[in-house]
Amino acid sequence: MKGIDDASYRSKALNNLLLSILLIVANSTYCSLPAGIQSGNSSSRDDEIHEIYMLLTYSILYKTWQGSDSSKKIIGNNIGALLVNPAKDSILGFDRNRHASTNNITQHAESRLIQHYLSACECGDLTGCIIYASLEPCAMCSGMMTVSKVKVTVYGETDPFGGKALERLSLNSSELADGYLPYPDVTISNASNSRIRKELDEAQKESGIFIYKFLMNDKAKEIYKRAYQLFINYQVNYPENQPIYGRARDFLEQEVEK
Ligand SMILES: [Zn+2]
Repeated sequence: MKGIDDASYRSKALNNLLLSILLIVANSTYCSLPAGIQSGNSSSRDDEIHEIYMLLTYSILYKTWQGSDSSKKIIGNNIGALLVNPAKDSILGFDRNRHASTNNITQHAESRLIQHYLSACECGDLTGCIIYASLEPCAMCSGMMTVSKVKVTVYGETDPFGGKALERLSLNSSELADGYLPYPDVTISNASNSRIRKELDEAQKESGIFIYKFLMNDKAKEIYKRAYQLFINYQVNYPENQPIYGRARDFLEQEVEK
């Protein structure tokens, strides 16, 4: 019996080792944007565009913050998503989490955004589009992004609870017994390079508060306020980004007035 146990143990250990290597490879190769939309080098024009759209996403949430006024009914968590067509530098829409007002736990920002936009545009899919998500997408929204052919998602806070869903979809375990290939054409997932994302990640970790509750508290709101101030005082480094910033400012006003 001992021999069988040892062999079984060695086989399991080998499988775990192989899986660990695959995870490291997947994580190290996955989180990079295609050429032209690199995030991470603040000196590029495209990086500035990412920053503008990410700050816009935070700002809409700050200006429509849920939870600070107890007389108002909560419609959902402070989580939002912005849809952009980078080829035309145009904002296609914004939506937010509405789990409370709909009494439906599946009413996440990204899923609502994708479904509503596709229903209205009758364009079939979202090839080439980018979604700026204030929180790292969950498994449900990651699946919907991938199926609808969203090119990239840039997220504004890490979700230590339900994150890395797109990386998990891209995992290749086909070398293992009963393994499988990555899901085809998985949406690329990138953490925003914004300092606000880093502040939120650190504050949530320090607080020890569960991510969705953290996003309803005053500490998170303070950081979102800084994002809003950064956004409204933003000075573009690249003059060609001025019209993009101008349209983003107009979009903020429209969303707040809704
Ligand atoms: Zn989701």
